[in-house]
Amino acid sequence: MKKTINNNQNGHPIVGIDLGTTNSAVAFINKGRPEIIPSPSGERIIPSVVHINQQGQVEVGKTAQDALIAMPSRTIAAVKRKMGSEEEIILAGQAFLPHEISALILKKLKEFVDARLGEGDKEAVITVPAYFTDKQRRATKQAGELAGFIVERIVNEPTAAAMAYGLFNLDKDKHILVYDLGGGTFDVSVVEIMGGILDVKASTGNSQLGGEDFDWRIAEWMAQKIQAQHGVNPLDDLRAKAILKEEAEQVKKLLSERDTVEISLPVVLFKDKTPIGLSTSIERNFFEEMIEDLLKETMDKVQEVLTQAELTVEEIDEILLVGGSTRIPMVSRLISQFFGKSPRKDVHPDEAVALGAAVQAGIKSGLLSKSGMVVTDVAPFSMGISVLEQWKGISYRPGGFSVIIPKNTTIPVTRSEKYYTVNDGQEAVSIEVYQGEHERVKYNHHLGKFLLEGIPSNSAGAESIEVKFHYNINGILEVSAKCLSNDREMSVLMQDALDRFSEESFLESTTSLENLWKDVKEDVLSAEEEEWKRFQQFLDDAVEDYEAEDVEKNITELKQEVKRLIKRSKHLLEHASSEESAGLQEIIESLNAVEEMEDVEEILEAINNATDALIELET
Ligand code: ADP
Ligand code: MG
Repeated sequence: MKKTINNNQNGHPIVGIDLGTTNSAVAFINKGRPEIIPSPSGERIIPSVVHINQQGQVEVGKTAQDALIAMPSRTIAAVKRKMGSEEEIILAGQAFLPHEISALILKKLKEFVDARLGEGDKEAVITVPAYFTDKQRRATKQAGELAGFIVERIVNEPTAAAMAYGLFNLDKDKHILVYDLGGGTFDVSVVEIMGGILDVKASTGNSQLGGEDFDWRIAEWMAQKIQAQHGVNPLDDLRAKAILKEEAEQVKKLLSERDTVEISLPVVLFKDKTPIGLSTSIERNFFEEMIEDLLKETMDKVQEVLTQAELTVEEIDEILLVGGSTRIPMVSRLISQFFGKSPRKDVHPDEAVALGAAVQAGIKSGLLSKSGMVVTDVAPFSMGISVLEQWKGISYRPGGFSVIIPKNTTIPVTRSEKYYTVNDGQEAVSIEVYQGEHERVKYNHHLGKFLLEGIPSNSAGAESIEVKFHYNINGILEVSAKCLSNDREMSVLMQDALDRFSEESFLESTTSLENLWKDVKEDVLSAEEEEWKRFQQFLDDAVEDYEAEDVEKNITELKQEVKRLIKRSKHLLEHASSEESAGLQEIIESLNAVEEMEDVEEILEAINNATDALIELET
């Protein structure tokens, strides 16, 4: 008989999933409380590792992790770092896309769910880091669909963690800081609980920082020891590298409990058929020094999120530590120093996110409606369009970023902005959509573009176009542009309503993600592609003309800019790493080269290149 526990209105059970870089877990609401669904053998979290064994069967979790060293070409870990990219992953000679590997992990979790809740369709709420882009969110959703879940919602991990906590503390109004340091990502968010309403005020982090980095610091240190003793670098050997990495993680975990840890590796690699090992010890203090810069960086982000939320340290009532890496004692210490109070310990670091996702699932299914808790989320990035911007007060250039939905806006949200034509007789505008925080669109993430045509021919600036963005709770963006004088409108839905794939087609499916946005627009664009290209060319030419004309008069001003840039580069050079200083030297040389020139184009180009390069170096 089909069990009816945890059913929602559609009759499908619904679960919450933490699809972690390092570990994954699934939970559901049982008798009004979130509860982890363990594997049949009792594991509450499983490593997010996938292995294809010699028989061609897929293994996920602990067994897969054990194969990481012995069979690196058949095993993949930390695939979440690649989510949303088109990077092919070759496993046992077969090519996979990152979301397909993730789907295999989710499929494993679905086995646990099916064993516990019975066969049949399941809905799922899946969590992602707050920093995930739309594309990465869509990839995650697609992974869930490929695994056979009906993906109800994508939720930010810190939000989920706060929900696991908030559920039991509705009586008090407070600000909660969620510090989530996992294996591959760091997120920090400020969550406000007020009158039973949970609201994410701000969120930031680093998607490339986590426990793995700590492992590599230890592994590199061990490798240096071996190199010093034996003259070989074990990191050049794939297998030796894996052995050191695994040992490093064990050592790191032990250092959370002890002051000193013995390292005894009889064989790391062979040199002239002689085994080379490592026997040494490491102190917690030393390890803390090794990773201090990385933890300090997380604390900078803590400060950043407070600034974003416009809150002082004193206004944070509770600090939640989430993610396995927060077990490192130095983390609590830094947090305590910073806030002048200790973080809470009653939220399970490994399980909080999955439990919170289950709470979200429970609210959706009506199981937790009595709790009265309403959750809102925030936009993880600013979203907007590319515009022509005034440049140094002397000309215009394309590629400025005009934000329509600012980062950390509570979602779902609809916002619109008005823009004007730039040329006489302009009959079309190209709407280029970007996501990110940089004022130049080229440093942001390009989401897509479309053309609005049929604007009445008029003088420059006389026609206004309203661009409207609607961003929903699943991170899907709808963009529309409307010419206000004649109501001509064009709207593109970045919708990801995916067909669910059959078991058979699952392994073959490779391209749909990349083409998602493209697919939606293809019909529209194919007819207008030519037109659009011509318009773009027209725009580029127009801009070039502007620049050439206006700039001529301002050559002295340009020269001053060159001098300023040289000065800025030299200043940066004082604190630059060797890699950076090579880049800076190049910038300075290129600027010196144009200093005495009279060719506006050349000077402009040098300024442009140098400005871009400096921005890159400074960020
Ligand atoms: P993710 O969210 O990235 O999946 P988790 O929250 O599961 O990651 O955290 C995994 C990380 O936590 C790994 O890098 C692991 O080594 C680290 N970790 C787990 N336990 C400890 C511990 N006791 N001390 C230090 N780090 C730990
Ligand atoms: Mg996590």
